[in-house]
Amino acid sequence: MISFYPGPSQVHNGIAQYVKDAQGSGILSMNHRSTQFMALLKKTVAELKKKLRIPKSYSVLFLSSATECWEVIAQSLVDQTSTHIYNGAFGKKWFTHTQALKPNATGIAFDREQELPVDVYQGEVLCITQNETSNGTQVSMDTLQLLRQKNPNGLLAIDATSSMGGQALDFSLGDVWFASVQKCFGLPAGLAVMVCSPHAVTRVEKLNEHFHYNSLVHQLRFAQKFQTTHTPNVLAIYLLLRTLQDTPAIGATHKRLQQQATAWYNLLAQTTSVKPLVSSSTVRSQTVIAVAASESQVRRTKLRARKAGFLLGEGYGELNATTFRIANFPAMPPARIKSLAKLLRTLC
Ligand SMILES: *Cc1c(COP(=O)(O)O)cnc(C)c1O
Repeated sequence: MISFYPGPSQVHNGIAQYVKDAQGSGILSMNHRSTQFMALLKKTVAELKKKLRIPKSYSVLFLSSATECWEVIAQSLVDQTSTHIYNGAFGKKWFTHTQALKPNATGIAFDREQELPVDVYQGEVLCITQNETSNGTQVSMDTLQLLRQKNPNGLLAIDATSSMGGQALDFSLGDVWFASVQKCFGLPAGLAVMVCSPHAVTRVEKLNEHFHYNSLVHQLRFAQKFQTTHTPNVLAIYLLLRTLQDTPAIGATHKRLQQQATAWYNLLAQTTSVKPLVSSSTVRSQTVIAVAASESQVRRTKLRARKAGFLLGEGYGELNATTFRIANFPAMPPARIKSLAKLLRTLC
């Protein structure tokens, strides 16, 4: 079975070997205060910055999930209010998680067929979901730039869970970017990457919120000496390093995924019984293809695909019965993409 689920998804095809290497080289029982661990972390951060084009001045932290990143941002970067601009289930969840900690958080919902509305927003932190995994939409770098221009003082926090590692992101346009690794990084779940601008670091220091083991002041202090606040998922960090080492620079991956996404959307334009969930091509995601159809067609397609060895992504939340999703992540083998496309052409 090959998983086209948009996370957890098909893992990088080198994983089995890298786990073996980890076992052979003592990574699995490595002490997280040792110089070996610090060297591993340092190397991983450098490789991540190089391959994803993250500015040198930005800090990189390792957390356990994107959900933890949501919580840590609410804890350590928001004093009173944050503003959440969302069009789907993940953005909304981020908002409600934040509200539980900071009741003054504001949510602004927008239509998934529209571009994210650029405006002057109140609130100390603006929270944006760059790639909304639930409905297959994305926010362009142009829109982020306009948002940044209109809101030069507020901090911009960006959930890029299903695009980081697959899309060329301009990190300079945001202050806090984060992603968990079971999406575009093609790794097993249990690790998240958080990237902080100098502006974000200054704010963390100013607020000095230090009531939690994962408070950002603590995490940043440990990151400076290439350590973590607690015993981290060392194996996952090692797997991230190994997979990044044999990954091309993000520009090449971005281009390849874009071509594949175009092929998926072209296919969906030719089918009779299914169509892209989002009709506006300018806001469609390049990494998560959301497909809409009747309930019976969705059921039938998922079942037939499964019988042929392909796991399609379930529709998310309220879209469960009338959509399915196809991950267009870097680790999907091109030959299997071709076979799934062929199958969908005959089924739909
Ligand atoms: C998957 C996903 C999350 C949640 O990730 P976890 O690692 O399960 O916490 C958050 N945001 C987006 C956009 C996602 O796709």
